Amino acid sequence: MGAANSSGPQGEPQGQEQEEEEEEEEEEGKGEAPAVLKDRTASILPDGSWVRSWKSLLSNVGGALLGLERVLGTRNPLKTGVQAPPSERLPPLLEKEQLDRTLPQCVALFLPEFPVCPPVGHRQLKILGFVAKGSFGTVLKVLDCGQEQVFAVKVVPKVEVLRRDTLKQCKEEVSIQKQVRHPFVHCLGDTWQGQRHLFIMCSYCSTGDLHTLWKSVGRFAEAVVRLFATELVLVLAYLHNLGIVHRDVKMENILLDEQGHLKLTDFGLSRHLPCGGRAYTICGTLQYMAPEVLGGGPYAHAADWWSMGVLLFALASGKFPVPPEKDHISMLESVRSANYAVPPSLSLGLRLLLSELLCPDPQRRPRYLHHFRSHLFFRGMTFDAEILRKQPVDFVLGLQRAKETPMDSAAFSDFDLDLSAPSSQPCPG
Ligand code: ATP
Ligand code: MG
Repeated sequence: MGAANSSGPQGEPQGQEQEEEEEEEEEEGKGEAPAVLKDRTASILPDGSWVRSWKSLLSNVGGALLGLERVLGTRNPLKTGVQAPPSERLPPLLEKEQLDRTLPQCVALFLPEFPVCPPVGHRQLKILGFVAKGSFGTVLKVLDCGQEQVFAVKVVPKVEVLRRDTLKQCKEEVSIQKQVRHPFVHCLGDTWQGQRHLFIMCSYCSTGDLHTLWKSVGRFAEAVVRLFATELVLVLAYLHNLGIVHRDVKMENILLDEQGHLKLTDFGLSRHLPCGGRAYTICGTLQYMAPEVLGGGPYAHAADWWSMGVLLFALASGKFPVPPEKDHISMLESVRSANYAVPPSLSLGLRLLLSELLCPDPQRRPRYLHHFRSHLFFRGMTFDAEILRKQPVDFVLGLQRAKETPMDSAAFSDFDLDLSAPSSQPCPG
């Protein structure tokens, strides 16, 4: 599908499965009201509960990661042919039969995207730490003892996937992220499954994500916004050209590589949607969701451009265009009544771009690469990903260096600077 769809002009999505897709989506839209699949506000756990879930996760997953072979070898006799434990330690017969029937299914359901054995070389993984708790999974920093390399592993409980009825979506995440190859997309490594969890592994981005950076800075200079906007335009045009809509473009899903460039990640809500196809599922992260998504569709790739507008607005002004609401209905009301007052301090080009991206009518939003290339805001900017990548993003690397060598605040406790004294130099006491 990717190859067939990749020839559209100027980033225009092309596809051959329009009718099929539309049929499928119409089915999706006909039944009950579409559910919000993913709502960041709803995913935030009550205070302290992440600690509990983190501990319980470690107790569950630690074994799976550290002793994966042991777990797969002895705890899944059906898969490996290892003898069952002595009968006195088995549950009652009926339960054992049920177990025999259900175990392979809970493995087979996730095949082939999640093979049973971790690829050779990843069998000895040591958890180095907790990175983040997303709404779908927990991201851990792990050391591959064999390769002596650090990776990030997203651990998703199978039961959660089934409970939320997101099996298809979960497999789609893997197949899409394996399909895409772009300098500004975070490529997927290995995926596999244990008895209770799915594991999605990729390289670890030590520079963190755009949201963390934004929180620490407040707002970005226009030159930085322009660079990030260019990289994001290239990624979205590439994905749309393949007939893929991301559906969760937001700062938290943009990692930064060691040179400070963007890496779009988290394809957990993405789907193939060829040109002309329409989607109806209300999904994404409330504050970034386009009005047509909040309203239950029909919507298409233009929804990603709206999310990019929200993101750029926040990067440049330090605040979101519309405050968060508790659910998609109130969010839709707020989005419809908002005036999107762009700070007058921003340049004309950026104000123009934001008003175009945050246009309520998806048909009138810019969507093709050529539009951005010739836009006032991008004047003088190259849209060649390789040229962009050659230049490190000094702003990001500078902040990173400052973070790596934190000044000990205690060292300043005796600091007493007399600015009037000519020889006074600020130095730690
Ligand atoms: P959500 O639903 O909240 O978007 P999720 O469960 O889908 O989250 P991800 O978005 O993939 O999970 O990851 C959650 C967070 O973990 C990211 O926002 C990022 O901060 C961090 N993270 C993910 N992958 C990596 C990585 N490879 N290197 C470093 N940090 C990462
Ligand atoms: Mg995410």
